[in-house]
Amino acid sequence: MKVTGKQNTVNAIASRLNLLDFDEAGLRDFFTSIGEKPFRAQQILKWVYHHAVTDFDAMTDLGIALRQKLNLIAEIKLPVVLQEQRSNDGTVKWLIGFHGGNAVETVYIPEPKRGTLCVSSQVGCALNCSFCSTGAQGFARNLTTGEIIGQVWLAAQALGHERNGLRKITNIVMMGMGEPLLNFDAVVPALSVMRSDLGFGFAAKRVTVSTAGHVPGIYRLKEAIDVALAVSLHAPVDEVRTGLVPLNRKYPIAELMQACRDFVSEKHKRTVTFEYTLIDGVNDHPEHARKLVKLLRTVPSKLNLIPFNPFPGTQYRCSSQDRISRFQEIVMQGGLIATVRKTRGEDIDAACGQLVGKVLDRTKRSERIKIKMAESTP
Ligand code: SAH
Repeated sequence: MKVTGKQNTVNAIASRLNLLDFDEAGLRDFFTSIGEKPFRAQQILKWVYHHAVTDFDAMTDLGIALRQKLNLIAEIKLPVVLQEQRSNDGTVKWLIGFHGGNAVETVYIPEPKRGTLCVSSQVGCALNCSFCSTGAQGFARNLTTGEIIGQVWLAAQALGHERNGLRKITNIVMMGMGEPLLNFDAVVPALSVMRSDLGFGFAAKRVTVSTAGHVPGIYRLKEAIDVALAVSLHAPVDEVRTGLVPLNRKYPIAELMQACRDFVSEKHKRTVTFEYTLIDGVNDHPEHARKLVKLLRTVPSKLNLIPFNPFPGTQYRCSSQDRISRFQEIVMQGGLIATVRKTRGEDIDAACGQLVGKVLDRTKRSERIKIKMAESTP
């Protein structure tokens, strides 16, 4: 880009590229396109993700001329933490705001031997699963790659995560707001930065994409990048599943299972994690458990049973402890590996399906976010 005159400078600044939107391959292309050596990509990635430096002027190995050029045409623009809530059990929830007025929630769940970061991929969700409060608020927009990886960057900073020392975050799950496979083109480069040694350096089994069952997306994901897969199943028969996850009408259980088998086919020792939210009287009958055993025997898998987390206005209730235990007993006797997920962060509404950012009045909220963003941006 040749920048001459004041007006052009203004235009260039107005459309500066956010380098957080690129993984290594994207950054190499970017540097080539501006007549620079592709290895600059590695330098930038290390500054941003190893040293948490986002100011080009502090990137001392880039050379003054390149730093000046980058200041004109590019930027490293992070989202902003608008609110942080810490639960009594150590769970942390951040409300993260984006330039333009949207916000999502990102949650950190510490356990004795690991720390899981739950990352959002969209503002709201278009899938309208009947038991999920994110679905109830509707869909606003896809996040960009920078907005997805920016959540990890901000959480790592807030937690004091060190890449080669105190690894507060050991696992990342794309289980926050949104359907990651419906924002494929932005999600994959973000996954690539999570995985890359030049980025956060997480092993493939420690980065999980969770889907409501977008079958073509599962096939594409397998080709695009090596990560773990979780599938929100919630019922072993189409009739019940369609009532919970409307996407099942388009991609019924048999097709979904075939995609899951394919996903792990060449990956020895890999399994698909199936999530199953237990809802009183809907999908928690012993017969459902027996059918689930038959279904999941066909896929190398683990089963994660999640007691339903109620939210205001929901028609559903959580299954009783007895029913949950009975369900788990049947699936385990059937040979499945099944755990019941403990609800975490209850006092701060950070549990599965409760991520809404309390969107009761979207217009007002959007205005509030804009004001806060303006206050926190220099
Ligand atoms: N769209 C993706 C990721 C977001 S949902 C997916 O569907 O997998 C993350 C998980 O929380 C899913 O398994 C979802 O089914 C579950 N969930 C949603 N609402 C819930 C609720 N109210 N109680 C318990 N689990 C819920």
